Amino acid sequence: MMKKLTLRNLVVRNRRVLVRVDFNVPIQDGKVADTTRLAASIPTIRHIVDNGGRAILVSHLGRPDGKKDPRYSLAPVAKALEKLVGKPVAFVEDCLTPPPEAAPIVLLENVRFYPEEEANDEAFARKLAGHAHVFVNDAFGSAHRAHASTAGVAKFFPKAVAGFLMEKEIEHLGRVLEKPERPFVAILGGAKVSDKIVVIEKLLQRVDALLVGGAMAYTFMAAMGVPVGSSRIERDRLEVAKRIVDETGKRKILWRRPMDHVVVRELKQDAERETVKEIPEGWMGVDIGPWTIDEFKDQIRAAKTILWNGPLGVFEMEPFATGTREIALALADSRATTIIGGGDSAAAVVKFGVADKMTHVSTGGGASLEFLEGKELPGVACLTDAETR
Ligand code: AMP
Repeated sequence: MMKKLTLRNLVVRNRRVLVRVDFNVPIQDGKVADTTRLAASIPTIRHIVDNGGRAILVSHLGRPDGKKDPRYSLAPVAKALEKLVGKPVAFVEDCLTPPPEAAPIVLLENVRFYPEEEANDEAFARKLAGHAHVFVNDAFGSAHRAHASTAGVAKFFPKAVAGFLMEKEIEHLGRVLEKPERPFVAILGGAKVSDKIVVIEKLLQRVDALLVGGAMAYTFMAAMGVPVGSSRIERDRLEVAKRIVDETGKRKILWRRPMDHVVVRELKQDAERETVKEIPEGWMGVDIGPWTIDEFKDQIRAAKTILWNGPLGVFEMEPFATGTREIALALADSRATTIIGGGDSAAAVVKFGVADKMTHVSTGGGASLEFLEGKELPGVACLTDAETR
């Protein structure tokens, strides 16, 4: 992968810096319900203002479908950001309005109020770029999208560089792909095999062990002829699942699937549940059982690098959260490099209070998967190469 310029390589003094951030946060009753993503951008913003530059922040929020819609306004985010950064944040109610000259930190209104954003329209990108002298992309969570503010704007600047969050994501996820310390163990869960086939195939070239849980495991088990009752499986993915299992054999990768299961007859919080070694007809697996947890923990103890993506059960419901919680805690205790893919596994380590015990928790769900697939993300590709400096 080509190395990219970062904020460290940029002089910001007396410059207006357009910063693409990922402030796509949950809003409840007009307030920001979770400030994790805002906090993740603070080092970049502070660096710019502390070094005499001006940060003009641009982001999307939700899917307003190219129309101005107050439900998706970033105004509440400006307020929450002000508290976090401890400095005034000027809010501009239209992302194409030139930002006020004197303000050190400016947040522009939702860039997706214009359909040109997602269409990656050139004229729109040029107008956005007109606000500033240089471009910093710190929106890793949106880097897999080729939109005007994530990629299109870059070519209208003499320099486009990675912000600190983007740099950290590329470094940690990149190391997993390029030179993981061994043994390298991948733990995969979540709902679907189909979302993760390419990542799994890529990981097969690198991992020493592959531990599979969550609903995804049942598609693998069904492919191997193991009874799965009424567990959630993807019938159209049985062949590819079989191929993946065969491949682990050929490559001598240690492969583990759940050997016991928490099962229910219907997916309800208070459903009658059993722990079984073989799933009976009419029952579905909703969590990994205690044997499996122990086995996964043994593999975690032996690992030097661990990548985790996808919960190991229906962790949103407390009775089925044990497997996901136990694995999160085991990772927190581990001395290995621990990398948590974004989305649900990131939510799980936050929920169980161990996010700060991990080496890296990715802020991008789709983006971290695509990165691990080995794809070059448009939001990274558009940045200036370090060599051409
Ligand atoms: P993903 O977005 O693919 O990472 O999937 C996450 C979702 O998978 C979560 O909402 C979990 O509730 C769900 N999930 C995990 N294990 C199971 C299972 N055994 N049965 C049904 N859903 C599951």
